[in-house]
Amino acid sequence: GLPPYDPQNIFARILRGEIPAKVVHDDAHALAFHDINPLAPLHVLVIPKGAYVSQADFSAQASDAEIAGFWRAVGQVARALGLEANGYRILANMGEDAGQEVPHFHVHIFGGRRLGRMVA
Ligand code: 5GP
Repeated sequence: GLPPYDPQNIFARILRGEIPAKVVHDDAHALAFHDINPLAPLHVLVIPKGAYVSQADFSAQASDAEIAGFWRAVGQVARALGLEANGYRILANMGEDAGQEVPHFHVHIFGGRRLGRMVA
């Protein structure tokens, strides 16, 4: 299973302003910033402001306003980055088998080039 929420994880520290990030969106429910190790010309992470390890935790524990605000932010970021015309990909890793590195729920947004076929 997934670990309990660690308030010292790197995204919690970014949320608290303890370490810098290249922020592209900040509102009541979500923060979005460029990935430090981009895998595409545009690679942005969107995170909820609350303390959730996984999508399952987020869906089960967050308020409807938090869930709506988070997903609305994902769309707003994609639009603001100019990704709607040519398309983009969203992806989220959960737990060990998916190789989740940071135990704070996040969605990756990839775009800016033709992406390879999705692989499992
Ligand atoms: P995961 O594998 O957990 O889905 O993705 C974690 C992502 O966070 C990776 O793509 C990694 O490059 C990114 N990342 C890790 N540490 C930092 C950091 O300190 N700042 C930023 N902006 N991204 C980070």
